[in-house]
Amino acid sequence: MRNVLVTGGAGFIGSHLVDRLTGHSDVHITVLDSFEPFYDPREKEANVAAWTDLPQVQIVRADLRDIDAVQEAVAHPPDVIVHLAARAGVRPSLEDPVGYQQVNVMGTQNLLELARAWGTPQFVFASSSSVYGTDPNVPWREDHAVLRPVSPYASTKVSGELLGHVYSHLYAIRFIALRFFTVYGPRQRPDLAIRKFAERMQRGAPIPVFGDGSTRRDYTFVSDTVDGILAAMNYDAEPYAVFNLGNDRTVTLTHMIEALERTLGVEAVIDRHGPQPGDVPQTWADLTHARNALGYHPQVPFEEGLERFARWLDGR
Ligand code: NAD
Repeated sequence: MRNVLVTGGAGFIGSHLVDRLTGHSDVHITVLDSFEPFYDPREKEANVAAWTDLPQVQIVRADLRDIDAVQEAVAHPPDVIVHLAARAGVRPSLEDPVGYQQVNVMGTQNLLELARAWGTPQFVFASSSSVYGTDPNVPWREDHAVLRPVSPYASTKVSGELLGHVYSHLYAIRFIALRFFTVYGPRQRPDLAIRKFAERMQRGAPIPVFGDGSTRRDYTFVSDTVDGILAAMNYDAEPYAVFNLGNDRTVTLTHMIEALERTLGVEAVIDRHGPQPGDVPQTWADLTHARNALGYHPQVPFEEGLERFARWLDGR
């Protein structure tokens, strides 16, 4: 039996990962989550509801900032940790930079300390495309310099990668940082653009658009992200590795809104604002390294992903 600890397992990406892991009978999954109220915790409760009766899954309600509580609550020392718990989101991090630092940096270091104590050999970390800042050389490759983040959130993800390198070097904990690129799909966080726009468009409310619509994102469907996480859990080539998990197709904000209009069959009412501080003009992943080392090949084209997202939204 392989013991897997998924932090942030009640959240958007984490719940898709746990759903997938429950399909493997030889895996025991500990879901650790604080169910914090960044968005409605009832969404997180709904995400975990399907597992409450599964003996294969243990749900632990604990806060990563409290290392003793986490150590006490986790009954099965993990063979692999997938660390997805975080304060997420670029814009809200400008409002609470210290809170982001405490969860994303101190919380990550607490978990690395526990990995040492448990003897956990493999640690997969949710990093972010935001570490690339405003690097103009696209597509972004993992060996580009990332010491120029432009938001508190991004700086916490750079810090997490740096801490991971220290622990991989000193304590033989293999550390794999996965840089996710704008993940979307069913159960997407309500603060993220596709979900926020879709919900407003459906009720005829204006959508806030920052900038002239030319900003670009490499949208990645959540099942593709989960494929990459699963591959990273079994990666064993190097003690420290960083991978982009994107879609290698960058889509303008204007195109995203037009595609949403077609998918939902409604016209958007646009409420235009100036560019947001902390936002980056574009994101675009070079996938060569992830393809070669993880066998990562994103499967879901943007329009199809939007269809699947819209079906989920309709069924809520
Ligand atoms: P999410 O907010 O849905 O999930 C994060 C989970 O972490 C939540 O369920 C939350 O309750 C939990 N959490 C927060 N603080 C905690 C704490 N102190 N202790 C324990 N649990 C805590 O977000 P998501 O979109 O699923 O993101 C998952 C990870 O991927 C995050 O690390 C995020 O930074 C990263 N990421 C996401 C995206 C994206 O587009 N969604 C892009 C890049 C990186």
